[in-house]
Amino acid sequence: MTVFGNQAVRDIETVLHPYTNLATHRDTGPLMLERGQGVFVYDTTGKDYIEGMAGLWCLSLGHGNEELIEAATSQMRRLSFAHLFNGKSHDPAVELAETLKGLVPVPTSKVFFCNSGSEANDTQVKLVRYMNNALGRPEKKKIVARDKAYHGVTVASASLTGLAANHADFDLPIPGILRTACPHYYRGAQEGESEDDFATRLAAELESLIEAEGPETVAAFIAEPVMGAGGVVVPPASYFPKIQAVCDKYDLYVISDEVICGFGRTGRMFGCETLGFRPDSISVAKALSSAYIPIAAVTIPEAMYEAMLVESRKIGTFGHGLTYSGHPVASAVALKTLEIYARERIVEKVAAKASQFQAHLRRLADHPLVGNARGLGLVGGIEMVADKATKQGFDPKKGVGARCVAFAEQEGLIVRALANDTVSLCPPLIISPEEIDELFARLDRALARTQEWLRKG
Ligand code: PMP
Repeated sequence: MTVFGNQAVRDIETVLHPYTNLATHRDTGPLMLERGQGVFVYDTTGKDYIEGMAGLWCLSLGHGNEELIEAATSQMRRLSFAHLFNGKSHDPAVELAETLKGLVPVPTSKVFFCNSGSEANDTQVKLVRYMNNALGRPEKKKIVARDKAYHGVTVASASLTGLAANHADFDLPIPGILRTACPHYYRGAQEGESEDDFATRLAAELESLIEAEGPETVAAFIAEPVMGAGGVVVPPASYFPKIQAVCDKYDLYVISDEVICGFGRTGRMFGCETLGFRPDSISVAKALSSAYIPIAAVTIPEAMYEAMLVESRKIGTFGHGLTYSGHPVASAVALKTLEIYARERIVEKVAAKASQFQAHLRRLADHPLVGNARGLGLVGGIEMVADKATKQGFDPKKGVGARCVAFAEQEGLIVRALANDTVSLCPPLIISPEEIDELFARLDRALARTQEWLRKG
């Protein structure tokens, strides 16, 4: 039996952990982190770990960035809080909205601020409904999301999410969400099907779904450019252009969930630029503030804003908003984050470092445990399998991915296990070439220990 220190006992007795196996947590206890610097984080014993997941795909500038700390404290001193309700405003929110409008690759009229990716995507669902009511087509409301998608955990965003654990026992999804296939070529392709044929089939499936539902009832399509929590799924190059054509044909409002991909992760500023599609709106969060403080945003195109304006003239107040929409401190930190991305040419540097990072991933594809290694820019995943030839996975009860993550932790690397024993990697964008080598050296050791553990049965 594990004997826990005082801090661990206090944690077990008081904190309900998100995304944690509540039963095993009582036996394993928490990993108590204390401080961080750059891409390293240290636990309460002083042991160092590489932030292989940038926290939760978010800590793009790493720990301890003094400029961000200064941006927060000076804004707290100037104006600690102000809201945007009833037409009130403040400089940090206005400046951030202007900056985002200039940065996003989609024509944008207004920016709506939230605190989390879930809230941003819930807002997207509500805005699609609001717009179509305003346009006098109340039947056009259904939203298509993909199997294995991750769009959040609030009631509507969890319904968009396509993972069983987010639905089971929560009585989700809500009605009006349609599900289409995940573009996971390794798992989803039929015998002998090329990547392009696979993409063509998925686009045809989307079209059949829309036709079966009635195109007049289908309003929107939402997608992550590279799927994150669903297993770091990088679609074939022709997937999004083909999907976009279907969305255009049926007048679907296309939403790019850039909560992970936004701000350089894939080597371009936004994932939709890398993957080749033209959304009507994007959701951003996480790296918008380099995770130093919660903030998220939704972009609103002119046509949607015009419709909302007409509706507002009829019914009055636009009845949606969060106390902390456009919080001045969060806005100031986000503005500084965007300034650093531009000044330090962070996105260009990601593109330069990506080849080294992706070469390590490709090398891992030769490992006996790795069935598929995939990624783009500075995000990647390795899918572990029992049999490389047949792609047969391990019995989920064995917990091979979780075991590998535990070994990685012992080796000083924080990574995450996703479905199908896929271990994901998403380091801070500021990671140096030497630190990339060190990250993979630690992962190599974790894989070797996993192999040894499996060998011993
Ligand atoms: N969308 C995507 C693509 C995400 O990865 C996440 C979080 N991992 C969310 C939405 C939800 O964001 P949050 O946890 O901030 O609500």
